[in-house]
Amino acid sequence: MPELPEVEALARFLDARTAGTRVASVTLASLSALKTVTPSLLDLEGQAVAGVGRRGKFLDLATVDGLHLVWHLSRAGWVQWREELPTGPVKPGKGPLALRVGFVTMDGEPIGGFDVTEAGTQKRLAVYVVRDPLEVPGVARLGPDALTVSEADLTAILAAAGRSQIKGVLRDQSVIAGIGNAYSDEILHAARLSPFHPCSSLTPDEVARLHACIRDELGAAIDRSVGHGTGTLKAEKKANLVVHGRAGQTCPVCGDTVREVSFADSSLQYCPTCQTGGKPLADRRTSKFLK
Ligand SMILES: [Zn+2]
Repeated sequence: MPELPEVEALARFLDARTAGTRVASVTLASLSALKTVTPSLLDLEGQAVAGVGRRGKFLDLATVDGLHLVWHLSRAGWVQWREELPTGPVKPGKGPLALRVGFVTMDGEPIGGFDVTEAGTQKRLAVYVVRDPLEVPGVARLGPDALTVSEADLTAILAAAGRSQIKGVLRDQSVIAGIGNAYSDEILHAARLSPFHPCSSLTPDEVARLHACIRDELGAAIDRSVGHGTGTLKAEKKANLVVHGRAGQTCPVCGDTVREVSFADSSLQYCPTCQTGGKPLADRRTSKFLK
């Protein structure tokens, strides 16, 4: 699932390609992805593009006239830039293509465009056309952005979260925007905190460390991601994760074995030596291959 660093890199990439151009065509291939009725997707055609930005894990293409194409990639969505867009008709409901947007220069020269795709059978991608991004419920709910949240705000947020476990709170977009399952694992590993640590019992030192690790982990991931084309970004993310998705492998910090806790629809990874005083967290399902 793309998280803040990848979405930020995608936003910067799309902004560089499309700001100052004009939307030439918008084609919807996955009818269920579009969550709004008016304005319509066709209202975007012919509009000059002001720029592309990020709100939490949402992408926001704004036109000069104040229309916004907002979309959320959810678990399996992605954006692929194409220097030349296929000209044939799009078959709705066939394959991973959900939305195709083409651009022209102000002189009308085609410059390609992007496909928004979604792999797999679970269709959770969401596309909105709005006059104000805050009309998108998921955007209106966003907490402060993880990249810019202050230490004082983070302290207040964690105190308000009470005994809730830190891992879940970091992933809650209404609490802090932008962090998902992968980077919460990475941030907690860097901060040497158990994913199950209750928020309200973090010491001021631990909160300060967590705050620095949020900023550093996301910042470093953005630095690595920016400059990558839409085609190589995913591999870039995966290659640099230290604990997430690496159960059974060696922790590069201490040499212990990265372990895993599985839930119904997700799993988390952590290093016992770095994060839980050497004690593995209870998880029946992984014990068979992590003896
Ligand atoms: Zn370790």
